[in-house]
Amino acid sequence: MPNVDNITSKTPRLHDSTTLKNEQSSSQAKKKKKKIKLAKFAGFCYGVKRAVETAKKLKCENPDKSVFVLGELIHNAHVIAELENLGIKTLTEIPEKGEGICVIRSHGESPQVIEKIKNAGFEIVDLTCPDVKKVQQKAVELAKEGYFVVIVGKSEHPEVIAIKANAQLYTNNVIVAASPQQLKSSESLIKAHKRVGVVVQTTQRISTLNSVVEYLNSIADEVKVENTICKSTSMRQAEAKELAKESDLVIVVGSKKSANTTHLAEILKDITETIHIENADELENYKDLIDKSINISVTAGASTPQDVIEKVIEKLK
Ligand code: SF4
Repeated sequence: MPNVDNITSKTPRLHDSTTLKNEQSSSQAKKKKKKIKLAKFAGFCYGVKRAVETAKKLKCENPDKSVFVLGELIHNAHVIAELENLGIKTLTEIPEKGEGICVIRSHGESPQVIEKIKNAGFEIVDLTCPDVKKVQQKAVELAKEGYFVVIVGKSEHPEVIAIKANAQLYTNNVIVAASPQQLKSSESLIKAHKRVGVVVQTTQRISTLNSVVEYLNSIADEVKVENTICKSTSMRQAEAKELAKESDLVIVVGSKKSANTTHLAEILKDITETIHIENADELENYKDLIDKSINISVTAGASTPQDVIEKVIEKLK
């Protein structure tokens, strides 16, 4: 990537004045200094930070015990490798028999899975993010109050699976939907139930929640909405939207598997040119776009480590 400050134009000789003018203004444009801004809320949120730091501390304080995490602690290969090096292993499934500590990650787990881990012989350290716990509790409250529970989110996401399992302890009337279209096949069931209670996956877009609620309002007698999008997600999205308004290009850094990072990129694409990369090496794929952009903002998902963000900034500079 050329450093715009180092581009020098050759002295024009036998050109007419218009050509000369054009060449000068194009050279001035090239010389315009890039402004690179880093978002304040880029990188680890408090739930992820708490999970990573506590897992490391656990291993440090219990050197003789095995420490496991069920599923990847966060969606980031660098951090997973770092944890593995410290002796913190990722379990892809629960063994019949085990010993040591098993960490529940910030997404949370269903009561059935927690029971299975205990029965296998593990000691459990529950690092479910308090904001995720709040969604589970709200879903249970709605179920207990007799509402038909709608969870706005992606049905395959671990956080959503755990929220659904918690609500299902009290009712069979639970549906997950990421759009109004996904509720259409249950329309008569919802109409018959009349009262609907809504919770939302912590990292969803507010526009998705609004569209589902609007649809439910048109078919149910009562709709009780608990907006459980977490504060960290809302602040990150709000700040990034403001940055996008004043940028030619926004670079979102984070895993493609991370729900909050993907949602962030989706939101920003509606405002300005946006690229979603996992690390600094991927900047090479967008060389032309980066070269022609003057105001560039960088933000990152809640599971993106600081050093990955710093490498992106360094390479841009
Ligand atoms: S994104 Fe929100 S809910 Fe998820 S871990 Fe971070 S703070 Fe908790």
